[in-house]
Amino acid sequence: MGSLGGTISMTASDAAGGVVPTLDATQLTRSVPGLSEVAEIRTASLRQLPSASLGYDDLMAALDWAEQQIAAGASGVVLTQGTDTLEETAFLLDLFWKLPAPLVITGAMRAPQTAGADGPANLLAAVRTACHPESAGRGVLVVMNDTVHYARWVSKGDALAVQAFVSNDGGVAARLVEGRPTYFHGGPARAQPLPRPVRAWPKVALVTAVLGDDGELAELAVNAGYEAVVIAAQGAGHVSFGFAQRIGTLTPRVPVVIASRAAAGSTASQTYGYVGAEIDLARRGAHLGGWLSALKSRLLVTALLASGTVAGALGEALENWSKLTRR
Ligand code: ASP
Repeated sequence: MGSLGGTISMTASDAAGGVVPTLDATQLTRSVPGLSEVAEIRTASLRQLPSASLGYDDLMAALDWAEQQIAAGASGVVLTQGTDTLEETAFLLDLFWKLPAPLVITGAMRAPQTAGADGPANLLAAVRTACHPESAGRGVLVVMNDTVHYARWVSKGDALAVQAFVSNDGGVAARLVEGRPTYFHGGPARAQPLPRPVRAWPKVALVTAVLGDDGELAELAVNAGYEAVVIAAQGAGHVSFGFAQRIGTLTPRVPVVIASRAAAGSTASQTYGYVGAEIDLARRGAHLGGWLSALKSRLLVTALLASGTVAGALGEALENWSKLTRR
């Protein structure tokens, strides 16, 4: 079990006026009743950060560590971290995770000293999931609130509730009942894992299209050196007339990907014909993100570019990824 920080590890600090990450991996595992009866656990304190401050290099280091644990004979790996970026970190790690053994990520919505703290139960459920033979071959899994989610679909649907995580569209992978995960379906279709980055991580902008917006921010991002832009577009992939025009001027310069800013659902591809709708944006050279959320589209674009896909081949790489994952 490797710890990265987050609420699951936080205790009160008078100086900071709130909770901050302090507990290490050994302290976390010791706080879980019955954990030692479930598995023999090796711990490592990898980082002690609020999850918004985790970076790509922290995550690649965690990935290396996780691969080393499997190579050394572990049957699964659990990482603990903050929940704020969990849907992003799980997805990014999943793009690179090449082993059949499960990599399970968990956290907590309530800090350890709070009444009803959920960290110990989540950690126990995560370890049980990592040890379960049916968890193999499913890539990176997120376990929260006795529910197992696929990295591909999971998102944080509530800022503070214990039942914060949802898997819109794809559905949850499993629920834990009496300590055992019950998987509802076979494993998900997964694309080939990406090769490790061969260059510096690119800056990819995520710009939300909003009412009265002509897309100026997207252009400012490109002028500032961002190598690609993901638009969290309205509805099924729509922007205003002015924004559409702007996208037409950007696509010869950088890849532009259209995702939906809605909490669930796919971009359309052949429904709306007006200026600024998906058909028009595709004609202007933008790529349609399909079912992938805007947050995850940004990470897919980032990871593809980092692992050697050139900008001109990005559209094809995105399409292949969607076909391989069947969505
Ligand atoms: N702000 C915290 C973090 O992401 C929230 C959490 O851990 O649940 O680090």
